[in-house]
Amino acid sequence: MQDLEQLKQRISLLHYLQQRHWTARPTARGEEFVGLCPLHRDSRPSFYVNARKNLFYCHGCGQGGDLIRLVELSEQLSFRQSLAFLQRQLASADQTAMLEATAAFFQFQLHRHPEAIHYLHQRGLHDPAVIEELSIGYAPGGNLRHHLTSQGYLFDELLHTGLINPRGSDAFCRRVIFPCREHGRIVNLYGRSIGAAFPHRLLPRSKGGLFAWEIVSRFSTILLVEGLFDLAVLWQSGFRNTTCAIGAHLTPAQLDQLSDPPGRSVYVVFDQDENQAGQRASHSLAQRLASAGISAHIVQLPAGQDPNSYFLAGATAADFTHCLRQARPQ
Ligand SMILES: [Zn+2]
Repeated sequence: MQDLEQLKQRISLLHYLQQRHWTARPTARGEEFVGLCPLHRDSRPSFYVNARKNLFYCHGCGQGGDLIRLVELSEQLSFRQSLAFLQRQLASADQTAMLEATAAFFQFQLHRHPEAIHYLHQRGLHDPAVIEELSIGYAPGGNLRHHLTSQGYLFDELLHTGLINPRGSDAFCRRVIFPCREHGRIVNLYGRSIGAAFPHRLLPRSKGGLFAWEIVSRFSTILLVEGLFDLAVLWQSGFRNTTCAIGAHLTPAQLDQLSDPPGRSVYVVFDQDENQAGQRASHSLAQRLASAGISAHIVQLPAGQDPNSYFLAGATAADFTHCLRQARPQ
């Protein structure tokens, strides 16, 4: 049961509740907080948390206990299941912290490696504000493992996240890095090779929701592109309503994001491939969007272009706006 005590010490009951948007005010006794009960329909705050003792009690439904008891009741899990649930929460919090540390390290590396900046310029991305806002970094390869282990992360944790491969070398090598966030937390890292290696790489975990959705979701008209360089160049040109699914396929969760709230217009701006692959992908996606009640438009760029290459070839924001205007609803 030593594990159990350690677990309870590492997750504070108050912090756990606050992460789930429980709002509370301190009572006259400083260590105590009161708010609406998460376990029953509560109209007057009757749920008390003692932050020092890590205990709760509700005067409405009469439930009380420690964090594990709260999880048992709120998630309807057995004691053992609740324990496993909390252990998973801790592990995922550790992984998030490790990904944050990794992204910060790569961001720092970007400006120390002229080849990375040169690559961004080559792709038409030069606005320092956009590079900063997207937290773009660079993985030179060969130094992440040392950096993270010196911060106290274990080899096994790095391996488990996929940041290093079983041979012990960095998984991202000579890649420009875009951190993918969900609800503000990094859930994955996308690495674009600047050399001969396979262009795209993600960590072996969910790529999360639509890219930069916290920022883009407030728009009622959305541009959807395939690649993060398409997105970066469009943001740079003022099209801040651009998001990206990293590829031409949307997960059901990403589709849900687009349809909540209902009534959005989505402009699909995929690659115009010579072999028509991009065009076929746009059409099948537009059909999925339409059947989800989203007004979908397919944007035609000149043959062989994607948004990134179109701007690189000299197109202006006005040229791109013209393409948007030509797009027909599906
Ligand atoms: Zn209650």
